[in-house]
Amino acid sequence: MNQLNDHNHNQFFSMFDNSIPQCPNYDSKTNYLLESRKIFLFNQVLQQKIQFIKDQNILLDKQLVQPQKKQRRKATDISKIYKCTQCEKLYGSEASLNLHIKLKHPIIESESKTLIEQSFQI
Ligand SMILES: [Zn+2]
Repeated sequence: MNQLNDHNHNQFFSMFDNSIPQCPNYDSKTNYLLESRKIFLFNQVLQQKIQFIKDQNILLDKQLVQPQKKQRRKATDISKIYKCTQCEKLYGSEASLNLHIKLKHPIIESESKTLIEQSFQI
């Protein structure tokens, strides 16, 4: 097994001293293989935790996004083919026309009876 002794190690790593000021000196009593394995496993756990948090963030982002409001059509975009028989008003739907008639041209009960009677006459 090719192990570095303290001297070789420090000589080799001296080139990093400026970039890694916190780098501890080599300690021959430390089991670096075991230490690196601990760090490796610790990193695995951390990565799993990071992934879990990322997944939760994605879910939270989805919940935050409000559903897009349905775009209301402009008056000019609606083809008005439903014409009121009693005035000049035009409407885009039968429902709108019926609402207009109900509000603007309410049929008085006596007139209504007359209309029904007329419709049965041949
Ligand atoms: Zn009308």
